[in-house]
Amino acid sequence: MKDRIYLSSPHMGGTEQHFVKEAFDTNWISPLGKNVDGFEADLQSYLGENKEVAALSSGTAALHLALLVTGVTKGDEVICQSMTFAASANPIVYLGANPVFVDSETNTWNICSETLEQAIKDRIAKGKKPKAIIAVHLYGMPFNASEILKIASKYSIPVIEDSAEALGSSYKKQKCGTFGDISILSFNGNKIITTSGGGALVTASAALKKKAVFLATQARDDAPHYQHSEIGYNYRLSNICAGIGRGQMEVLDKHVTLKRKMNAFYKELFSKTEGVSVFTEPSEKYFSNHWLSCILIDQAVTGYSPSEVREALEKQHIESRPLWKPMHLQPIFKEAPFYKTGVSERLFTTGLCLPSGSNLSEEDKKRIAAALQPFL
Ligand SMILES: *Cc1c(COP(=O)(O)O)cnc(C)c1O
Repeated sequence: MKDRIYLSSPHMGGTEQHFVKEAFDTNWISPLGKNVDGFEADLQSYLGENKEVAALSSGTAALHLALLVTGVTKGDEVICQSMTFAASANPIVYLGANPVFVDSETNTWNICSETLEQAIKDRIAKGKKPKAIIAVHLYGMPFNASEILKIASKYSIPVIEDSAEALGSSYKKQKCGTFGDISILSFNGNKIITTSGGGALVTASAALKKKAVFLATQARDDAPHYQHSEIGYNYRLSNICAGIGRGQMEVLDKHVTLKRKMNAFYKELFSKTEGVSVFTEPSEKYFSNHWLSCILIDQAVTGYSPSEVREALEKQHIESRPLWKPMHLQPIFKEAPFYKTGVSERLFTTGLCLPSGSNLSEEDKKRIAAALQPFL
């Protein structure tokens, strides 16, 4: 049987083991050490914009701490892009706050600025100004940062930028992960670079980074004994995982190039297929890492549905998946307010994510092209 082709699997570059071995050799097998410092420094220099980075155990942990240090508490409302992975929204609930979902725009698939403003006005009219806005660069495609930041600043609401899928992407030549009042990254196994599991919080403020690290290491007061004046968390990245991250930073740009080549491969493959469109940057302002390449299928034109394509690929041991199911359609969030454009529901019913690994071989691509042949 042929090996399974995955959507996006870990892709090691070679030097990860050197950093991990060094951690072993020096016995720094803890959530502190040279690799944690080194990985944070690598990320800071990659992102630029004078940002401070705190390496954490996951992107979800980073979002939780981002909301916490923003001052979100019980009963608050937080606006969140509906079209995303549940990890963007769950931390709102960890804090006893309530998500308010906003639909997407067609060109970036991300939070629609006009609908965002309507939602803010309506929440204020109903008596509660939202405490934060969580905007997501889905599949690596930057959201319209100019418009979103303009509206956020008009109403003085902080933006938490979920850049979990968008390390290596940029908008108007500025790197994703540097647009939010606080931004987060993920290094989960399926992301563009991985530490097996990990994340980071990005901020312009050294004091805020210090606060995040304090909370991530059980919020110990400055005393020789164990004393706590605040509730803490065990959210720091381990020095072993950070070693993998240092090795991965050396190949991040290469991964971006390879992911973008996968996107070009699908564009070429479907170039003569009516009714199928490959998700592409709307203009020169946007540069996507194309973490996952996605297509939309207009069944009225093609005569086949996304699930027929998915099942045909599955028969050849090739993984594909529907797009993220919007949060306002999730059983867990069915009571949450939702401001609609209709875009995310349409994306969910017509979309499909295709294998996008930076480690796919020419042989893999031939297998994918052969399996897709009947749909071209
Ligand atoms: C992966 C992901 C997260 C969560 O990151 P973890 O490191 O897996 O906790 C959050 N938001 C989005 C959009 C993601 O894709």
